Amino acid sequence: MGTFKAWVVDKTEAGQSLRYGDFDEAGLMDGDVTVRVTHSTVNYKDGLAMTGRSPVVRRFPMIPGIDFSGIVETSEHPDYTPGDAVVLTGWGVGESHLGAYAERARVKGDWLVPLPEGLDAAQAMAIGTAGYTAMLCLMALDHHGVTPAQGPALVTGASGGVGSVAVALLAQAGWHVVASTGRAAEADYLRSLGAAEIIDRADLSKPGKPLAKERWAAAIDAVGSVTLANVLASTKADGAVAACGLAQGMDLPTSVAPFILRGVSLLGINSVTTPQAKRRAAWARLARDLDLAKLAAMTTTVPLDQVDRLAAAILDGQVRGRTVVTVG
Ligand code: NDP
Repeated sequence: MGTFKAWVVDKTEAGQSLRYGDFDEAGLMDGDVTVRVTHSTVNYKDGLAMTGRSPVVRRFPMIPGIDFSGIVETSEHPDYTPGDAVVLTGWGVGESHLGAYAERARVKGDWLVPLPEGLDAAQAMAIGTAGYTAMLCLMALDHHGVTPAQGPALVTGASGGVGSVAVALLAQAGWHVVASTGRAAEADYLRSLGAAEIIDRADLSKPGKPLAKERWAAAIDAVGSVTLANVLASTKADGAVAACGLAQGMDLPTSVAPFILRGVSLLGINSVTTPQAKRRAAWARLARDLDLAKLAAMTTTVPLDQVDRLAAAILDGQVRGRTVVTVG
């Protein structure tokens, strides 16, 4: 057993601390697969874990990082052998189980998916939890039966990670995409991903009426709170909204009016514990449908030892698109 480089969040009476340095392999938690992590990424939840702004870390010390791609080093799991390329998102990794911002991770093989055919390890993390969640949102809208023939699709938090991938995926699926953003300077970026219209997020972020003019048939919402209430109020009859995020807040100050007077549906998305079959279906569809040139255009890269720079920035809505973290 040796040591490897890792970020570690710790907590004492003085508060939460974050350090980068050597981690003893003997300190890894139980699991039947050990992975040499090659790439990770920066998600909103990683920002919460590293800054301590919200109590997402459930065990100390914790290696943050909720998703990774890498190569299996050792395995006692029947599905995996050394040398296999794998991807992990969710399952409490980086929250209650030691996470991805490290050169090694030991996890349950049941949490892994094989690296999808057509994607390399860096592309898988350019997608990461945020992009995979955008696909779960699209699949939920499809499953509900709402189609581009019924009207436009709105994406909130459009310049962020979930939002950027959602814009690209919805456009690819034939939707007229309305992108809501607080960053007017990113209009060209959003158009390049496939947005047909850009709206100012201020239109949606202040308290509005229980029912407003019908504007979109579908929506992917990464923002929650008052914004989600207004998104619901402007959803066309029989439309659907996939809700996955809380960038504005965790509350939802709405009424039953959109549901009972317009038959609007609110579809909840939880990417953390999605069952294997649905996970694999989502990754296969990402590998098939997501335009890799658009993925590259929305992605920047940082080395592992500099990931702390982005922790507060992502919470403050200052990170555009997706960030790949290179490890080792
Ligand atoms: P990002 O920070 O990359 O994107 C969030 C975007 O929301 C920002 O870029 C910004 O977009 C917008 N935003 C930020 N603050 C506010 C605000 N106060 N009011 C309105 N809009 C705001 O984060 P991610 O894309 O990684 O995650 C988005 C959300 O989805 C997070 O809440 C995250 O926790 C959640 N999530 C949930 C998952 C699940 O399983 N349910 C999985 C993954 C993420 P712009 O500048 O364009 O306005």
